[in-house]
Amino acid sequence: MNSDFYEYDIIIIGGGAAGLVAAVCCAKKLYGKSDARIAVVEKEFKVGKKLLATGNGKCNMTNENMSVDFYNKASRDFLGSILSKYSPDKIISFWNSIGLLCKADPFGRVYPYSGQASSVLDILLLNLKNYGADIFCETEITSIKPEKGKFRLHSKNKTFLSEKVILASGGKVQPNLGSSGSSYLFADMLGLKCTSLFPSLAPVLCSDKDLPMMKGVRVSASVSLEADGAVLLTEQGELQLNEKNISGICVFQLSRAVNEFFAKGEIDGRKYKHISINADLMPDHDIREVEKLLKRKIKLLPDLPVSELFTGIINKKAGMYLLKKHNITPSDRPIASLDDGETEILSQGVKSLGFIPSSPSGINSAQVTAGGISLEEIGKNMQSKKYKNLYIIGEALDVDGLCGGYNLHFAFASGIISGNDCADPYRKKR
Ligand SMILES: Cc1cc2nc3c(=O)[nH]c(=O)nc-3n(C[C@H](O)[C@H](O)[C@H](O)COP(=O)(O)OP(=O)(O)OC[C@H]3O[C@@H](n4cnc5c(N)ncnc54)[C@H](O)[C@@H]3O)c2cc1C
Repeated sequence: MNSDFYEYDIIIIGGGAAGLVAAVCCAKKLYGKSDARIAVVEKEFKVGKKLLATGNGKCNMTNENMSVDFYNKASRDFLGSILSKYSPDKIISFWNSIGLLCKADPFGRVYPYSGQASSVLDILLLNLKNYGADIFCETEITSIKPEKGKFRLHSKNKTFLSEKVILASGGKVQPNLGSSGSSYLFADMLGLKCTSLFPSLAPVLCSDKDLPMMKGVRVSASVSLEADGAVLLTEQGELQLNEKNISGICVFQLSRAVNEFFAKGEIDGRKYKHISINADLMPDHDIREVEKLLKRKIKLLPDLPVSELFTGIINKKAGMYLLKKHNITPSDRPIASLDDGETEILSQGVKSLGFIPSSPSGINSAQVTAGGISLEEIGKNMQSKKYKNLYIIGEALDVDGLCGGYNLHFAFASGIISGNDCADPYRKKR
């Protein structure tokens, strides 16, 4: 098949969060000062598919509470200077400067003022139209080769030659929204080092046979990840129980460590043999207070069947699950028949309801890819150390953050840095 040929000065591979921001920054900087040509090349039928799905359609763009501690350990040294220069305020100012108003919720999570992720994409596209950049959709780049100081890119029926390339082709989770791992194929082609990949910010699959009993339950809880008996992480929030997994933002925040355990048998560089997630269903009461509450109920209504022991105290289905898990049967037995040992076991159950993660989360349920192109490959202004004029940004890199706007913050910050840097020499030239 004949291949159409296009030549550009700057090509951005991937019209997602990072790539579109990079394109806007360089197009805006060059506008009226240079005739450098810019193109965004996107494999999907439209750009920004994932952006539209972020924050449940509201797009949590950044977070007023910003620290390197909200990112994977391996990225923290690298991120230090980026986050001090590109603080949440700086990112918000960038959005204001291109026409998007933002506001923070009481937890510091920043959203577009409109409450619509679509306005983030609209503003990016309006700016690209105004400042001038070509967009090729349904064009999946399949190879990238350095050639005489430029880069030659191929898709099924197009060939591109460009002096500069910004690689913004994302990670490999939720391939239905675009990114399906091309970034790592490009890294392979270019001989760039990658760290091991696994999903993060995802529901955690559990094999407990009684879990379906709690399908649909949502409770406020404190959840902890334990490895070989030691508590590694604790998060508070709404715990959601489903047929085969546990979910909710508090579980998402633990899922990186769970999936790292399944991928490498270790968490943050330390080997472990066994992990569990324990949910405290009454985090504001200690175990003695829970026991007291149960005993008070027994004293108050001794003839109640045990199936009603937890009624009025914790979620009813969760209570039934606890009784089943601890073999407190039959369910019509009066609560007065519970002995001290049984009330103690049930109180412990309320304070530490255990789940055993059974397998890694699926890539279709995760929000972000942990691991990626090694940060050792990246020099000043997001440029590859090995290839001059190749920039790598966003989720393609070994940077992943917690839920709360941290992943988009990095996508935007790295987009701004690379886009501005790319534009500089052209501005000076003319
Ligand atoms: C459901 C969901 C909700 C999320 N919500 C939030 C949130 O509220 N806040 C937050 O901070 N983070 C959120 N995230 C994470 C965040 O969306 C990503 O980390 C971020 O989009 C990464 O930006 P990126 O530009 O690097 O990659 P992407 O946004 O994935 O963009 C990469 C683009 O490259 C294109 N592409 C891939 N391969 C090729 C190729 N070979 N040729 C051409 N184009 C290619 C893809 O189609 C895609 O458009 C969410 C993720 C998901 C899945």
